Amino acid sequence: MTFTDLGITAPILKALTLEGYTNPTPIQEQSIPILLKGRDLLGCAQTGTGKTAAFSIPIIQQLIQDRQENGGHRKVRALVVTPTRELAIQIGENFTSYSRFTDIRNTVIFGGIKQARQTDALRKGADVIIATPGRLLDLMNQGFISLRDIKYAVLDEADQMLDMGFIHDIKKIIAKLPADRQSLFFSATMPPAIVELSQKILGDFDRVTI
Ligand code: AMP
Repeated sequence: MTFTDLGITAPILKALTLEGYTNPTPIQEQSIPILLKGRDLLGCAQTGTGKTAAFSIPIIQQLIQDRQENGGHRKVRALVVTPTRELAIQIGENFTSYSRFTDIRNTVIFGGIKQARQTDALRKGADVIIATPGRLLDLMNQGFISLRDIKYAVLDEADQMLDMGFIHDIKKIIAKLPADRQSLFFSATMPPAIVELSQKILGDFDRVTI
């Protein structure tokens, strides 16, 4: 199985080759076709499996296609919520790498530093926001971020977010997402609280367990 077999288009394939990826990992092989069909996804997978590429590649590809259909200007159309600053930075670097030959742009939002640089970056425009929950809500409440145009929403490491006490923040964020969206939910473990949370975000979904 290759990324070409999975229907990945030329500008992304070129970036993956440059990255040294020759074949998709199992989670990528299983998730990419589901996501390119526009289906919601529940992914039971840990970091290290290639999970980030499994969700970012199909999101980038769909963002390119949406733009070609609409011809519109840059709006925040994809959101990834992740528990820590380190994960947010890492996911941002992956998006940047996979989208390097496209005009899709991302920006990373996390707490613990002054917000000015992040709000400056937002003003310049981004298609994708990768954020930790607290700072995301802060910037939403101040009017710097709107989720009105989100078409792709990812909750990453959901069990870790619950352990860190982000449940209320997550619920507030989910409440602001438009109903017409594709939702992706990733967690390494699936205790009852996580199943309950997944039901709040996912519609009709396919499940992938690695
Ligand atoms: P993740 O599980 O997303 O944290 O990814 C773990 C590591 O695997 C990262 O360093 C990725 O760059 C790398 N990786 C992801 N997909 C592939 C692939 N198809 N081939 C080789 N390396 C990959």
